[in-house]
Amino acid sequence: MSDKFKVLLVEDNYMNKVLVREILTLNGYEIIEAKSGTEALKKLAMERPDLILMDLHLPEMDGITATRIIKSEERNKSIPVLALTASAMKGEEDKIISKGFDGYVAKPIEVRKLLEAIQISLAARKTGEGEKAG
Ligand code: MN
Repeated sequence: MSDKFKVLLVEDNYMNKVLVREILTLNGYEIIEAKSGTEALKKLAMERPDLILMDLHLPEMDGITATRIIKSEERNKSIPVLALTASAMKGEEDKIISKGFDGYVAKPIEVRKLLEAIQISLAARKTGEGEKAG
């Protein structure tokens, strides 16, 4: 079994997908990919990622709907979901959190901010699991 953190990247934009895949691979993460909300749910039935990066605008099923479903499932609700969004205006974060996301990464994606957001979410998640396991 790999000791790498596994990230599910849900993104339909080719360039964003390539960029995030490169950044995460270079930083030691394992990547699973989906290009729609529907495909993300299918992947989650088979895989157990440590974190999900969710684009908001997706074909078939958008990122907000997919995240609502993920967060309603006992099996998946503890997986942090970070929104990938171009609309990171003031007050926007609260709106995103109210939709069930654990945080967001603004587009255009900055390497440092992406890695920081992922590390913070994984650290928070690990603490929670440690308490449960204790
Ligand atoms: Mn998109």
